[in-house]
Amino acid sequence: MSLFGEVPQATPVAVFKLSNDFKEDPNPMKVNLGVGAYRTDEGQPWVLPVVKKVEKIIVADNSLNHEYLPILGLPEFRSSASKIALGEDSPAIQENRVGAVQCLGGTGALKMGAEFLRRWYNGNDNMKTPVYVSAPTWENHNAVFANAGFEDVRPYKYWDAEKRGLDLGGFLGDLETAPKHSIFVLHACAHNPTGTDPTHVEWMQVAEVMKRRKLFVFFDSAYQGFASGCLDKDAWAVRYFVTQGFEMFCAQSFSKNFGLYNERVGNLTIVARDADNVRRVLSQMEKIVRVTWSNPPSQGARLVAITLNTAELLAEWWGRTQDNVKTMADRVLLMRASLQAKLQALGTPGTWDHITQQIGMFSFTGLNPKQVEYMIKERSVYLMASGRINMCGLTTKNIDYVAESIHETVV
Ligand code: PMP
Repeated sequence: MSLFGEVPQATPVAVFKLSNDFKEDPNPMKVNLGVGAYRTDEGQPWVLPVVKKVEKIIVADNSLNHEYLPILGLPEFRSSASKIALGEDSPAIQENRVGAVQCLGGTGALKMGAEFLRRWYNGNDNMKTPVYVSAPTWENHNAVFANAGFEDVRPYKYWDAEKRGLDLGGFLGDLETAPKHSIFVLHACAHNPTGTDPTHVEWMQVAEVMKRRKLFVFFDSAYQGFASGCLDKDAWAVRYFVTQGFEMFCAQSFSKNFGLYNERVGNLTIVARDADNVRRVLSQMEKIVRVTWSNPPSQGARLVAITLNTAELLAEWWGRTQDNVKTMADRVLLMRASLQAKLQALGTPGTWDHITQQIGMFSFTGLNPKQVEYMIKERSVYLMASGRINMCGLTTKNIDYVAESIHETVV
């Protein structure tokens, strides 16, 4: 009998299982709309041109080595990443009340934030504080907070399936009734999986209730740039909350907007009341990092930091009319418009305006689990059981096939 004989088999992670099933499918027409990664119109991963350039700069730089980074990460990465979230002229940065921790991707940033909050927020080692995540949300939110020790992870109302839009009343209602000091995980932009964000006025209403009811704001910013193609516009909610005086966390991922999925580049931005609070928070963050990964990896952080800190490279990544971020955002917009047009032309029952109204990488199609099963089994079009599709999985070559598949499934 093995020492591991009693270990139960865990269920696979849905999105990765979907990719494996896709790989094994012999159908030449197969399409993968599951995993949340950018694809070119040839259906290929895209190494951003600016990243290729910076990779060469790093290789040529003889002053760089592979010594450990500081526990909290590469300083120039942390500060430039926080600036991208909060804005160059953020009053919080000017007032020295912003700190940051370089983390392993957006997931690592959420994890560090969750571990810190469980230990130090709302009373020492407080696992009773409710953590609210949107219904629906990126499935890992629940697990990351539960795994950090929070015993009460709950959904807050967000999506109105009937009207295929934001359930603002339900959202505000849950904010009103949540116990004081509850933690709310908010998607900064391009909500995953619904592709539906609050408007500015709606964000203002959310902020008003959160401030009045003393709720903790934990932004998850995994798609900055993907919603509108503009980094500033996509950071509007985060920056608005800062102007309202919140002390808050913002978990940033550079996986999508830099195409650095496997480099694990993330940053946890901390906005506090003053410099002294930031210092003490970071001192505790350092303890948590030390027992988790001890020191972060350098390559991804260097790529991002060099890009953000070099005017010319920054403009190539984002800031010119046709920069790398815009190239990705525009392709998503094009695919949205084409898919909607094709479904309309086919006369597919139902309204498909939500395909173009939704923003970011994903669209919440409204297909139910049975229809999703049909799409996978009969058409080899792979999508999440929730009906979420990655718009980047669509190309000018496969879009007719996908539209016909949806049509056949729905009728
Ligand atoms: N938050 C959301 C909403 C996401 O969709 C993702 C990635 N799928 C992440 C966080 C994590 O990003 P990363 O891959 O950088 O860990």
